Amino acid sequence: MYSAKTRFRQLFPIVIVLLGGCHSGHPTAAQSSPNEIPRLRPLNVVVVTVDTLRPDHLHCYGYPNIETPALDGLARRGVLFENAVAQTPLTPPSHASIFTGQNPNVHKVRNTGGFVLQSSSHPLARILQEQGWDTAAFIGSAVLKRLFGFNNGFSVYDDEMPRPGKRNEFREDPERRASVVVDHAIDWLHKRSSGRPYFLWVHIYDPHIPYRPPAEFALKYKGRPYDGEIAYADQQIARLFDAVGEKSPAEQTVTAVLSDHGESLGEHGEHTHGIFIYDSTLRIPFIMAGPGIPAGLRLKQQARTIDFLPTLLEVMGGRAPAYVQGVSLAPAFSGKTVASDISYAETLYPKMNMNWSELRAIRTNRWKYIRAPRPELYDLTSDPGETNNVIQQHGPEVRKFEAQLKNIISPDRKGTEKVETAMLDERVMDQLKSLGYLSSAGGRSYELSGTGIDPKDAVGILQLIDEAESGETNLPEAKRIELLRQALAKDPQNPSLYYQLGGRLEKNGRYDEALQLYRTALSKGIESGRLHSRIADLLLRGGQKEPAIIEYEKAAQINPADLDSQNNLATAYLEKGRLADAERVFKWILTNDGDYPAAQNGMGLVSIQKQDRNAARGYFERAAQLDPDLVEVYMNLGLLYEMAGDRPRARSSFETFLAKAPPAQYGSIIPRVRQELAALK
Ligand SMILES: [Zn+2]
Repeated sequence: MYSAKTRFRQLFPIVIVLLGGCHSGHPTAAQSSPNEIPRLRPLNVVVVTVDTLRPDHLHCYGYPNIETPALDGLARRGVLFENAVAQTPLTPPSHASIFTGQNPNVHKVRNTGGFVLQSSSHPLARILQEQGWDTAAFIGSAVLKRLFGFNNGFSVYDDEMPRPGKRNEFREDPERRASVVVDHAIDWLHKRSSGRPYFLWVHIYDPHIPYRPPAEFALKYKGRPYDGEIAYADQQIARLFDAVGEKSPAEQTVTAVLSDHGESLGEHGEHTHGIFIYDSTLRIPFIMAGPGIPAGLRLKQQARTIDFLPTLLEVMGGRAPAYVQGVSLAPAFSGKTVASDISYAETLYPKMNMNWSELRAIRTNRWKYIRAPRPELYDLTSDPGETNNVIQQHGPEVRKFEAQLKNIISPDRKGTEKVETAMLDERVMDQLKSLGYLSSAGGRSYELSGTGIDPKDAVGILQLIDEAESGETNLPEAKRIELLRQALAKDPQNPSLYYQLGGRLEKNGRYDEALQLYRTALSKGIESGRLHSRIADLLLRGGQKEPAIIEYEKAAQINPADLDSQNNLATAYLEKGRLADAERVFKWILTNDGDYPAAQNGMGLVSIQKQDRNAARGYFERAAQLDPDLVEVYMNLGLLYEMAGDRPRARSSFETFLAKAPPAQYGSIIPRVRQELAALK
């Protein structure tokens, strides 16, 4: 007979399943005391943000080749801003501007990943929640998950994405279809019964790459999949509007639809968004309807995303708190000019992801000034496509715009702004410290001095990347890898290229080359949690557990919010018998995300080692509930039930395991489980 302890040790195999996909966020500015907001009228508020939506691809913005009846209808019922712009072409920073009324350098969410909207901020949801509104958000993409702080003020924050495959070393941002997001929102609308007014935010991600509209729309918009996604999004918005209309009459509802940024579609050498701040990605649709908003009005004055919050608050009978930088556009409804003429824009993506220069801009009703290593000025009235740089002819304007930029950024005396990534909320950091987990967060700091490679001089690199990543199905993988190698040879300090090339190599099973490549990146001074976690995964794959642990520890230090790496680290600790370390890290994961199934399973294994069967059972059962595809949980549960003498449940758990476990991954375990099962019969 085994002693109970030996039996536990021998029977509960620790299965390391590498989890991919991580995002991060970072610390920020304080801003609060919105008590100055007067009591708002009890109107229901519905905000739909459609990601990556160019206004000139909507019927109501004059595009004849698409049907977008839901948005056309909203425009007929309300006001359409013809000249609306985002403060940045990046999803999380732009959403933060929409909901806080602040520029990115103030709300401090500066890039996708690496930053968190701090809990000290006071976005729309929190304002309304404090005034008694029910608040709910339904999110279409992992880049806006609660980890990044966007749940601030929401009592319901539905951000559960489909779980990526177990072995997705090639990381993508998980997203979910608009139909799913809208279904959840409609379900919430139907179930609510509080009688209080509500704020509902629905985020639709479909027009973002990859462009894969559902079959009906793929067919109707053959060869134009981006348009197909937009038409599909509109169809889903129509469903949402119908559900809202059933219970909330128009005179009690304010509805707004806007985008976080556009899509470049090849203009200026950019296909998607994030690198440049031309109008192809800065211009957005912005439509609003509700009581007090005139029907069918189309306004030409520039409207900024930071103006949305103050406009909504004024429509609701309030006014914006002092920390809001935007202005209410409501006076423009009756023909007045509002002070929205100076719009700040930035993108730090080229700096942080490509090691190029960041870009900033001032955009007015007439001009766009772009501060770049080679600065640009465009007269938007005569040159809306921004193809003719007229900076030489307009010295006084440029000096004025430079002064405005300085005023907005307030750089140090050298003209530099320092930015530190903030992966975690301050409060989470405190929890982290109380768990004895970290003494300091290992964020990265960047000096934004407007120098370095000018992104427009690097469109050749973008072209190689676009070709390598193109949706063209006939392009061989070897060719894609070759294109990325060419790009890297031209731009060896570009972190993004290492990730893309490494991802391709891994996807093609060329693990040694990938490992070598990541080590080259480190040797060139490119440092990131992601590099260390990729190296760790590859080491683990090669059976090198001790070195993998060291790399995971570095990854965890740099980016404590990368829960997948944390989970791999904890599992490796457990395997090496470092129980206390494993427990600490699993607990940390569950502090961040109590619904993280693999960490629930991990805590179950820790509890087993500590001879606490009751606790173990609780963790395993929770893990199975959270992710029915986490197969090793069934094996662990089977063993537990067996020990408790519960033979029927033990049998059924083992059977579930055997039915689900892929032999490639569980080859050594399957025969042992079969043995256990046979013994039970
Ligand atoms: Zn976006």
